[in-house]
This record gives sequence, C-alpha cells and structure tokens, in this order.
Amino acid sequence: MSLITNEHISIEKIKKSKIDQVDFDKLTFGKNFTDYMFECDYKDGKWQNPTIKPYGNLVLSPATKVFHYGQAVFEGMKAYKDDNGDVFLFRPEENFNRINKSSKRMAIPEFPREYFFEALHTLLQLDKDWIKPGDGNSLYIRPFAMATEVGVSAAPSDEYKFMILMAPAQAYYTHDVRVVIAEHFSRSADGGVGYAKAAGNYGAQFYPTNLAREKGFQQVIWTDSNEHKYLEEAGTMNVFFRINDTLITAPISDRILDGVTRKSVLKLAERAGIKTEVRRIQVSELVEAAKNNELKEIFGAGTAAVISPVSAFSYKDTVYDIPKPDDSYAVRFKKELMDIQQNRAEDPFGWRYPLA
Ligand SMILES: *Cc1c(COP(=O)(O)O)cnc(C)c1O
Repeated sequence: MSLITNEHISIEKIKKSKIDQVDFDKLTFGKNFTDYMFECDYKDGKWQNPTIKPYGNLVLSPATKVFHYGQAVFEGMKAYKDDNGDVFLFRPEENFNRINKSSKRMAIPEFPREYFFEALHTLLQLDKDWIKPGDGNSLYIRPFAMATEVGVSAAPSDEYKFMILMAPAQAYYTHDVRVVIAEHFSRSADGGVGYAKAAGNYGAQFYPTNLAREKGFQQVIWTDSNEHKYLEEAGTMNVFFRINDTLITAPISDRILDGVTRKSVLKLAERAGIKTEVRRIQVSELVEAAKNNELKEIFGAGTAAVISPVSAFSYKDTVYDIPKPDDSYAVRFKKELMDIQQNRAEDPFGWRYPLA
C-alpha cells in the first residue's frame, strides 16, 4: 500500500480495483460500494487524521456508544457524469450545512467544511470510473458521523468518526406507491429530531411501515404528532399535493426535514408559472379534494428516487385512487431535475457543482 498525502488527506491506495466484479446493469440500491472510503476521527477535541482508504470493515468495541444510544447522523447525495465524462454534484453545500445542523441537534461536533469538500473531490477523483453516464445513473454518496467512544454511560461521546461511502446507483424506475395516512404513529414531534437526518428517525419508521406493507401499501404519509390532522412527509421523502393546478407542500418545521429535492421542486414550479402554496394542509382537505376529483397528484421528493408518484392513499380504511393526469407535474419535475443534474439542460439556479 502506498501512502500519498495531498494537502490534508492521506490516501492509502488499493492494490486492485473491484469494479470488474460489479454488474452495473443489475445494481441493488446501496449494496455495492466503490473502491475507496473516507474516514476521519474526532479525538481530544478536534477532527483529525482525515484518510481515504480501501473500502472495508471497521473494528469497534461492542461497547461503542453508537450501538447503544444511536448518536449518529447521515446525509444522502449524488454525483453524476455527463456524456463528456465531466462529473457533477447537485447542491452539495446544502448537504454540508444540513449534516452539521443534524450533528448539532445530536450533540455531535460539527465537521470542517474543507475536509468535507476535499474528501468528496478526492474520493470522486479516485473512484471516477464508478460513475456511469446515462439517464438516471449516478453515484450515491453517504456521509455519516457516529459516536465511537467506548463505554455505555448515557452521555455524549467524546470521540466520533465521520465517514463517506459511495455506491453506484441506476436509474430506478420506481413503481407508483400506495400510501397509508398515519392515524396513530408519528415520525417526529415538536421539539424532537424530525428535522435532523438522525439515524434513529429511520429505525423508528420501519415498524409502522411494515404494518402498512401488510395491508398492501408501501409507505406511510406522516401526519402531525399532536392531532394527526396535518399532512407532513411521505416515508423518507417530502411530499407534494396537487389540487387542481395548485402545488401544495407543508412548511419546514421541527418535524419536517428541509429536503434539497423539495426546495428544488418549488423553484422549478415557480419557474414554470405553476401556483405553489407552502402551507399546512389538512387530511380532511385532501379527502374532500379526492372525492371531488380535484386531487390530481401526490408525489414524494427526495434524493434517492428523485420524484416518487403516489397512485392511491388510504385513510380510515377507505382507499382513494389517484388517476394519473396527462400533464403530470411529477413526470415533468423529475425530468427537469434529472436534466439539470446530468448536465443535459441549462442550470439557471447554479445547482450543478462541477468537479475539476
Ligand atoms: C433525506 C430526507 C428527505 C429528502 O431530502 P433530500 O435532501 O431531498 O434528499 C425528506 N424527508 C426525510 C425525513 C429525509 O430524511
């Protein structure tokens, strides 16, 4: 293993790439990882030893705090390659700011900007062959931070690890999703951690989602934890409702995650002259609109699937089908977003971040 040091980050080179072992036409999302990963430790009050090394296992004591108290946060972002072989990220500044916002809420020390961006640049340079051009192909990037102090005392850790993993992803043609509107369970609560990408937020969603699955639905639309009256998010995505030709989404709050896809869709809608309303929306309003044939679309918005159309929702044991409109906003925004991300369209908002 050779050791090269650039400005900050030391690099341990792989002996041989494992790219040949991966079938890029049959990728399961988040299962195959690239040759390299990034690792940086927080010790003695500072982040230190940023290192890029061959992707591999960690050795951790079973008493490591993250296993017991879930003190961990993460991000999800993507890199794209255009037909000229140029590589781009999409609004990475947003992910950087958000992981530190999440970290703050979880009492994890903030990660330095220069390490984050230098790690991304260097990793993407080393693993650039893993990014395939072509519609919908991308490299999913998973930065995360976790408590690594050994000991089970219930107090914040004084040691952490920040890591970045990368996994090639295909255009995934998601089937339309059927959702259940939550009447009992909640994803998040006022004063809680719903706005943070905290690991445990996902863990807590699995059980109610399994119950929805057993009834033939794939996802849950989360409602406010106080009254289950207002619509908030769909699964692990932000959610949009189209009533007649108006696009409605809930405002960001303690309970709602500030999604990059959500705010990008709002911008694209404004540009298209589509009327948008960022306001609380009641379940009763949705049900009324569905009954009056005014509910044209529901779709989720998030980095992994980009836009995920909902074909039916269930509320109080009644199922409401949503016939697909010819002028689908979901289809339109998905195409517009992906065209910008993959450098097939103008970038009027400066969202593309080229990697030299
Ligand atoms: C990550 C996430 C989203 C989507 O955010 P993007 O930045 O668009 O990927 C929405 N809701 C929740 C709960 C999330 O964790």
